[in-house]
Amino acid sequence: MSTTLTPVLTANWDRADSFTLDGYGPYDAAKKALGMDPDAVIQAVKDSGLRGRGGAGFPTGMKWGFIPQGDGKPHYLVVNADESEPGTCKDIPLMMANPHALVEGIIITSYAIRANHAFIYVRGEVLHVIRRLHAAVREAYEKGYLGTDVFGSGYDLELVVHSGAGAYICGEETALLDSLEGFRGQPRLKPPFPAVAGLYASPTVVNNVESIASVPSIIGNGADWFAGMGTEKSKGFGIFSLSGHVTRPGQYEAPLGITLRELLDMAGGIREGHQIKFWTPGGSSTPIFTDEHLDVPLDFEAVGAKGSMLGTRALQIFDETTCVVRTVLRWTEFYAHESCGKCTPCREGTYWLKQVLKRLEKGQGTEEDLTTITDIADNILGRSFCALGDGATSPIHSSVKYFREEYLKHFEIGGCPFDPKKSTLWG
Ligand code: NAD
Ligand code: SF4
Repeated sequence: MSTTLTPVLTANWDRADSFTLDGYGPYDAAKKALGMDPDAVIQAVKDSGLRGRGGAGFPTGMKWGFIPQGDGKPHYLVVNADESEPGTCKDIPLMMANPHALVEGIIITSYAIRANHAFIYVRGEVLHVIRRLHAAVREAYEKGYLGTDVFGSGYDLELVVHSGAGAYICGEETALLDSLEGFRGQPRLKPPFPAVAGLYASPTVVNNVESIASVPSIIGNGADWFAGMGTEKSKGFGIFSLSGHVTRPGQYEAPLGITLRELLDMAGGIREGHQIKFWTPGGSSTPIFTDEHLDVPLDFEAVGAKGSMLGTRALQIFDETTCVVRTVLRWTEFYAHESCGKCTPCREGTYWLKQVLKRLEKGQGTEEDLTTITDIADNILGRSFCALGDGATSPIHSSVKYFREEYLKHFEIGGCPFDPKKSTLWG
């Protein structure tokens, strides 16, 4: 585990029994919430300023407030635990080390939105996480924290852990709902948003794991406590995942607005003898940054003002040994593979991006190919059905903006100027 500045979600990760009820504690925040009016719980989350931790940063309390009341329909909570964005590795360790924070958050959220059924939709590949979630849910049922008459309050809640089949697109909330209903996971047209017509066409809140796991601390400590951390419009704390060429990669919990320079101080800096070349603020779907962005506050506004997105706070760090063209090709291969094929700009565009980038990386391209990849990306961005297509264009546009010379160098020398062996962390 790593150093934390705001140890809340990661506070007990070093305990050997952190994933058990004994290691976690007695769900005091859920007990408190169930003694409150559901609308007061929603108001507390609104007042806290919590914004979605899955990448988009939509205000969580506002999303809960969209659920119509007195509509006679069942309401659902669906936790998006389909973490798959390249470089993103916060929800999986969180569920491994602290699954009860998520289960407690689910109780509070479901009660607030008047839902009696909740689901955790978890990535199919992470069997160890699925087993751990099942164990935590079983423990909570045995204690009477789930099921009928939760804590003797008269409120009923059933919680189901559902594993997906490993498609990146099923992290998109409406594709996730299709998959949960038993269909092939492909995005639905929005609006209507899930809050109006979600699972089985009923009002549904879809929230990320970290968002929901943050809720018990907000109810327990108060909205002001949470809002006192972070920046003016990006409140609270979050888990920042550092990976790549860093001395101590890992998860670092800190207030939003911290900078990469500060995080690198905690992580022991770039690996010895090397310098940072480029990095992603929030996974490969967010435009890359360079060493000139080390002091940008990592909050939604400041990162956006510099032309990128905070996303999932997946800070992938690359030093000067890394070929930017090769890296962008790898990411593009991922998007081309994961494109669900529903819309033409993304289905065809990601394929063609991959083909042209392969040629460029081998040094067999031309200067015109640079214009071609930019054109293809321009025709995907804003014309795709969901965020996957837009995300695929981020590495293209930003790498050409900052590293045009490096692209040109490839076809000048007829090959890649970098030795991939020097870039690997494994020698
Ligand atoms: P979005 O901005 O379209 O929506 C964000 C959330 O707000 C959704 O739940 C949506 O239903 C809700 N919402 C937005 N407007 C609404 C309205 N008017 N009424 C009711 N609800 C409304 O973003 P998105 O397409 O859901 O997600 C894109 C983000 O996902 C990207 O920023 C990326 O960082 C992130 N992402 C994360 C992962 C991961 O593994 N965690 C993977 C890929 C992408
Ligand atoms: Fe599918 Fe890509 Fe279109 Fe999204 S943008 S609907 S992933 S083809």
